Amino acid sequence: MTVPRRPVYLDYAATTPIDLRVRRKMGPYLSDVFGNPGSRDHRYGWDAAEAVEEARYRIADLISATTNEIVFTSCATESINLALKGPALRESKDTPTIVTTAVEHEAVLETCRQLERQGHVSTEYLPVDPSGNIDTEQMRGRVCSNVTLLVSLMLANNEIGTIYPIREAAKLAHDAGALFFTDATQAAGKIPIDVRAEAIDLMAFSSHKLYGPKGIGALYVRGGEETIELAPLINGGGQERGQRSGTLNVPGIVGFGEACRIAGEEMADEAARITRLRDQLERRILTSLPGVSINGEGSDRLPGMTNLCCHGLDARTLIRDMHDVAVSTRSACSSSTSGPSHVLKALGLSDDDAYGSIRFSLGRFTTEQDIDFVADKVISAVQKLRQRG
Ligand code: PLP
Repeated sequence: MTVPRRPVYLDYAATTPIDLRVRRKMGPYLSDVFGNPGSRDHRYGWDAAEAVEEARYRIADLISATTNEIVFTSCATESINLALKGPALRESKDTPTIVTTAVEHEAVLETCRQLERQGHVSTEYLPVDPSGNIDTEQMRGRVCSNVTLLVSLMLANNEIGTIYPIREAAKLAHDAGALFFTDATQAAGKIPIDVRAEAIDLMAFSSHKLYGPKGIGALYVRGGEETIELAPLINGGGQERGQRSGTLNVPGIVGFGEACRIAGEEMADEAARITRLRDQLERRILTSLPGVSINGEGSDRLPGMTNLCCHGLDARTLIRDMHDVAVSTRSACSSSTSGPSHVLKALGLSDDDAYGSIRFSLGRFTTEQDIDFVADKVISAVQKLRQRG
């Protein structure tokens, strides 16, 4: 019996496979070391607590934070909810503002909308230019002392890979007495992050985007002299210093820690290799096919991400014709919503061009042969569709 070849996976921005080294490290915590880290009276609890603290150290180390600044959550979406609602629900000022951008992930946009509906905040959404960049001068104009509660700017975009100027945004926020939050879900483990140097107050990230397991995320909450106080969203036994109650997911945390250790050690080489492969993919497709352009070209982009617009084609049809290639037309988290991508629309694309766009995201296990295979498939599928059309 021949086993059908699995599609070449170029959707690492949606999720990543667990690295084998991570899986090995997690193994004992799925069976033998099963204790609840909150159990203070016996060895099972102590062993679990020790594993959690070691992992917390690895995760903090990746972003130059300290261990008491890491709050475990279930995913980046939960971290984002805590980062935005936590300060907003404590605020007593009359309807403060959150300043963010039109290209944030749905987790940020929908949380802001909910806070607006409930009358806690009003939100300003900054536009982006055709490369996906924001204008920090325009941001300065929107951030006001005594009115702006928080500035929320993603570190890197999940559809086009654009990397944003968070250090400048953090300074603008702080000059106005506001907090600075960044959604680093796509960036963590891919590019260096130093929360101190960037003056980040709150930062969300997730294990399953960096070769760790699903079901575990973290929120960095700046500590030190002026520790940030958040209203918890999940009340209970007071775990995570009261900021997020609930028994900790020990195997998930151990895996997340190991994934961060590996990312920290291998990031520089991995980023160089993946960027070279991404550039190769773009070059092959763009030199062979007229009428294809890179969305977000001209901006500083994440290593493994490219979003290509095939003018005049419907990307969903194209993807259907390339069933041995796993890529996506939009972010996995917004695939339940209809309509063109809000990110591509914010770049100024027409509906047709937004529907004609495909995100390719490369990762740790992408090979040169994968890139050749995918480039050949895209080129022949586009040519066939154009002939048909
Ligand atoms: N923020 C960004 C930029 C993302 O890309 C994603 C997931 O795709 C999320 C947030 C949500 O992450 P999670 O799946 O861990 O909730």
